[in-house]
This record gives sequence, structure tokens and C-alpha cells, in this order.
Amino acid sequence: MKKKSILINPLTKFHHTDFELQHQKRPGVETDMLPKPDCGEESYEGCARLQGRKALVTGGDSGIGRAAAIAYAREGADVAISFLPSERQDAEEVKDLIEAAGQKAVLIEGDVSDELFCAEMVKRAHQELNGLDILTLNAGQQQFVRKIEDLDTAQLRKTFEVNLFSMFWTVKAALPFLEAGSSIITTSSVVAFQPSELLLDYSATKSAIIAFTKALATQLAPKGIRVNAVAPGPIWTALQISGGQPDEKIPPFGQETLLKRAGQPVELSGVYVLLASDESSYTTAQVYSVTGGMFTA
Ligand code: NAD
Ligand code: MG
Repeated sequence: MKKKSILINPLTKFHHTDFELQHQKRPGVETDMLPKPDCGEESYEGCARLQGRKALVTGGDSGIGRAAAIAYAREGADVAISFLPSERQDAEEVKDLIEAAGQKAVLIEGDVSDELFCAEMVKRAHQELNGLDILTLNAGQQQFVRKIEDLDTAQLRKTFEVNLFSMFWTVKAALPFLEAGSSIITTSSVVAFQPSELLLDYSATKSAIIAFTKALATQLAPKGIRVNAVAPGPIWTALQISGGQPDEKIPPFGQETLLKRAGQPVELSGVYVLLASDESSYTTAQVYSVTGGMFTA
């Protein structure tokens, strides 16, 4: 009799046919998505790789940030997440999941395009977690516009403020608290390497995040603080169905990759944990790609 394989085929591990066309108002909530993104709620198993650590994850209510927050908690970290008011339901779910892992959860509602909020968010995270040593800068907005003539200055400014300026403001506020051994992780994108004609402003921020990450890593290396970026490919999250992509791109979303499907947020959990943990103690100023095989170099 043939032995049953323990291997899992990456081509068919998750949803790999067309998605149903769906729309939500930005920023969208995960609870109403079909299928609901897999952020590791049922599957991520920790093994104490972040025991005693204190993490802040911006945009930790849904998608990639939620996957990181769940994984951090199951690895033994206390976790604060930031989110927007309309995302309260997703955020409460994450709080329950963090607490179910036996860790402290802190919910911080507000807009990271506001410098004062970024400072307040860091202060609260540090105070309520009783420390801060993992900064996962993940909040982002993505709004497609087909022609540069139609990209107004208000959107251009907001995309840069949310995706890029917030990183400067949050790091500035956090630095006094970060000791040697702390880790900063930014979220860039495959579009930093293969810019999208539909996402001029967004693509520009994601390239800038890589330059910021490398320059900051250089500046903070003498303090023993590591800084790395993650570059995801097409991942099934609320960002995409709330204005991130035009209708025609939603059903086949992700099928252009070598693995012929969209990634799920849980497929990034391992990289966010690795970069936060002491296992990556010799890794700084790097970009980790999780793209289903889309080239990033
Ligand atoms: P998501 O919508 O689930 O998460 C993005 C989060 O950003 C939201 O939950 C929201 O809380 C936060 N956010 C947006 N605007 C904000 C604001 N003004 N103030 C505070 N928070 C705000 O989507 P996601 O795909 O998990 O996005 C997470 C990160 O991953 C983003 O930086 C995104 O650019 C990046 N990314 C996503 C993909 C993808 O295909 N989904 C690919 C590459 C990179
Ligand atoms: Mg969200």
C-alpha cells in the first residue's frame, strides 16, 4: 500500500481558483470578506520564540498585521495593535485571540497619518505593555488610479503620510524606549521592484520604505537595533477589495505568480516572527520577499 504523503502542495494549499467579485468601503473589514483571509487563527502554533517580548503592530486588526499579531502572541509576546475606528470588530477579534494565547492585548484606535497620534500610540503601547522591543510598521493604504492626471494631491499626500511618514514619526517616538536587541520590521511590497501602473503613489511609497529601512538599519546598528523589511506579493486581504484593485483584477487575484494563487496572511507569519526574534540576530538592513515567486531582484 502506498504511504500517505505528509507533504502539502503549495499550489493548492489555499484558495487557488477565481475569487468572487466583492467590494467594501476603505479600509474594509476582514469579517465581511469571502473567503475570509486566513491569518493563522486556527493554524499558527507558537513555540516560545518571543517569550516576554513586547510588540506594537500598526494595522494589526486585519490581514498581514493580524497574522503577525496572532503569531507574536502565540510565541509569547504581549501585543498592542493600532487600527481605524471602522475596524473595531476586527480589532476586538484580534484582542480575544491574543488573550486566548495567554498574553496581554492593547487596542489603540487612531489614524497614523497624524504625527501626534503616532507619538501617542507609541507612548500608550510602551506604558500598557510595560515595555516595547518589537515595532512592526505595517499600516498601509492602497487606492488604484488608472491615470496620473486623475491622481489628486489629497490622495498623493495621504498615501505618503500613511505608508511612509507614519514610519518616521513612529520610530522617532519609539527610539527612547528601544533597547539593544529590539527589532523594527517595515512592510514594503513586491511593487517596490515591479511597480504597478495602477498604483503610482503606492508603489513610490513602497520603494521609499526600502530605502528608509536600509538607511535606518545603518543608523541604528551601533545601538544593537535591527531593521528589516518584508516585501509581500499579492495577499488576500481587505486592502485589495476596498479600492486597492479594479474589478477585473479581483477574481484572478494572485494567479499571475509562479504559484498561481494569492497568498494568505498566515503565509507571512513565519517571516515576521523570524525577523522579530533573536534567531535573526545577524540579519539587518534586509528585505524578505514572500511573493509566490514574483521576482524582487
Ligand atoms: P489590511 O487592510 O488588512 O491592513 C492594512 C491596515 O492598515 C488596516 O487594517 C488599517 O488598520 C491600517 N491603516 C490604513 N490606513 C490607516 C490610517 N490612516 N491610520 C491607521 N491605520 C491605517 O491589508 P494588508 O494587505 O494586510 O496590508 C498590510 C500591509 O501590507 C500594508 O502596508 C500593505 O501595503 C502591505 N502589502 C499588502 C499586500 C497585499 O497584497 N495585500 C502586498 C504587499 C504589501
Ligand atoms: Mg483592517
